[in-house]
Amino acid sequence: MNGKEKKPVKKPLIFYYLIVLVVLMLLNWLIVPSVMERSIQKTSYREFLDSIENKEIKEVELESDVIYYTVEKDGEVTVCKTGRIDDENLVERLDESGAEFSGEIPKKQSPILSFLVSWIFPIVLFVVLGQWLSKKMMKGMGGPGAMAFGKSNAKIYVNSSTGIKFSDVAGEDEAKELLKEIVDYLHKPELYRDIGASLPKGALLVGPPGTGKTLLAKAVAGEANVPFFSISGSEFVEMFVGMGAAKVRDLFKQANEKAPCIVFIDEIDTIGKKRDGQIGGNDEREQTLNQLLTEMDGFDGSKGVVILAATNRPDSLDPALLRPGRFDRRIPVELPDLQGREEILKVHAKKIKIGDNVNFHEIAKAASGASGAELANIVNEAALRAVRDGRKFATQMDLEESIEVVIAGYQKKSRVLSNKEKLIVSYHEIGHALVAAKQTESAPVHKITIIPRTSGALGYTMQVEEKEHFLMTKEELENKIATLTGGRAAEEVVFHSITTGASNDIEQATKLARGMITRFGMSDDFDMVAMENVSNQYLGGDSSLACSFETQTLIDKKVVDLVRTQHEKAKKILQDNIGKLHELAKYLYDHETITGEEFMTILSETKTEPFSLEKTEEL
Ligand code: ADP
Ligand code: MG
Ligand code: ZN
Repeated sequence: MNGKEKKPVKKPLIFYYLIVLVVLMLLNWLIVPSVMERSIQKTSYREFLDSIENKEIKEVELESDVIYYTVEKDGEVTVCKTGRIDDENLVERLDESGAEFSGEIPKKQSPILSFLVSWIFPIVLFVVLGQWLSKKMMKGMGGPGAMAFGKSNAKIYVNSSTGIKFSDVAGEDEAKELLKEIVDYLHKPELYRDIGASLPKGALLVGPPGTGKTLLAKAVAGEANVPFFSISGSEFVEMFVGMGAAKVRDLFKQANEKAPCIVFIDEIDTIGKKRDGQIGGNDEREQTLNQLLTEMDGFDGSKGVVILAATNRPDSLDPALLRPGRFDRRIPVELPDLQGREEILKVHAKKIKIGDNVNFHEIAKAASGASGAELANIVNEAALRAVRDGRKFATQMDLEESIEVVIAGYQKKSRVLSNKEKLIVSYHEIGHALVAAKQTESAPVHKITIIPRTSGALGYTMQVEEKEHFLMTKEELENKIATLTGGRAAEEVVFHSITTGASNDIEQATKLARGMITRFGMSDDFDMVAMENVSNQYLGGDSSLACSFETQTLIDKKVVDLVRTQHEKAKKILQDNIGKLHELAKYLYDHETITGEEFMTILSETKTEPFSLEKTEEL
């Protein structure tokens, strides 16, 4: 994130100098003397007396319990030491031998210094060490540091000038409209107050992952000239019960002081889950949620604190959170439509060098169903590809290839299909396309390839719908199921055997068929009764059955019947057009890729040269 952030106070440099100094002093006191000691030869008192007798001693230093002395023997000087013994005649003897000798001069240390060294220094050392250790341990436990218990660690952005603006968010016009109103209110509250309007206290951004919810909140921060607190729901969750609640309290206290301001809670479902009253439920989470509810009631909306939150699981949120006066405004941030995709591509294309003649409309069409994050990724992949190929800018080809990379993974050069497998994959993919084409009499595909991808797909068909539509008729759904079974049908018609290559098709066909029967009321027996409930609509859409056992059995049977009918239909279509099937499959086999136009040209040619299966089966 951009903008001004409050950073934790850094330790001044002097702190580190001090540590170095202490280490040096310790070295000086402990290590250096002991090293020097080692080079001194230890002798017995007897030897010492002998040396005096022989007048070999040059210098002597008498300390309270050690005697250091130097001996000169054959021109070699050695330093020796010996323990001091109560010897009354020592001074006399030394005097006689003519050695230079002296006693220990008592060190005069100021009392303050010695007090500092012997008392204060160790205490300070222990305190510093203890704090450092406890901080390290807190970090290890995931806590915010010993000194920050119960403090919110919301990041504050004030006047972030380098931040993201609304213009960086493409599409999502409705969401931007609503958020602009909030920003406007915070800039000119008088206008709204005069007319007596009060703005919603909270707005909830909901939508599938990667559609730009967090981005929108950042854009609000960039546009609003007011403090912006940003925190993620997971940051409230603590190890100790009550800590999250304390953080919420602290966050709102700060927000109230800084009002007018915006508070943004990302991924609010972490703390906002329904309280289900289970015994031994998550106490900490519930307390945090309760505190949030209380705080949201507690503050005065006219003061100008607006709370934004984002989630992709709105159905799991506690209803209390959604009632008027709390997050009463829900801002849907949906997957972009064709125009939205085009705009998002253009926004991101500004960040890279790109050829002039790139047709973003075509790319947007090919990337149907992609989220904003995926589109950003597609543009980036294109730039990477351009660099890899040594080009200075990205081209249309780069973008098209990167759509496939994002959807299906990289080309897997190392996987080599046997010729027989390649032929089967060709027939399988053409089977899909041909069934689709014959049902609608229009170009069903953008492109078909049989180059293996890292996602595991051995080949795939890129479908592009000319016009986006949001309603589907029963016939269209049935046709779609037939198309999905077309791959397997082609294998059956041509090879009279089946492979594992259809597993993904089977999954999708089953899902569609189930949906038609249990949720869309498209079977005669159940009329308009829902047999399944969908939860998590933004995250894959798990569904749970809501009917009796007998009905479940009936549903299963109906699903099988539906798919079987369409499968038979697909097989019939392929048998009726077997010549074209062979011709197209051979073309795909030879070229590995076929575009929608090439497909249609071959399909509409009247002349079909006889093609014998025997020839291909030799492969
Ligand atoms: P989420 O909805 O999961 O919070 P994000 O806001 O984090 O998604 O979006 C991820 C990325 O996708 C953004 O950083 C941005 O690059 C891109 N993106 C998503 N939606 C848009 C959009 N409408 N316009 C431009 N970029 C977008
Ligand atoms: Mg997000
Ligand atoms: Zn298939």
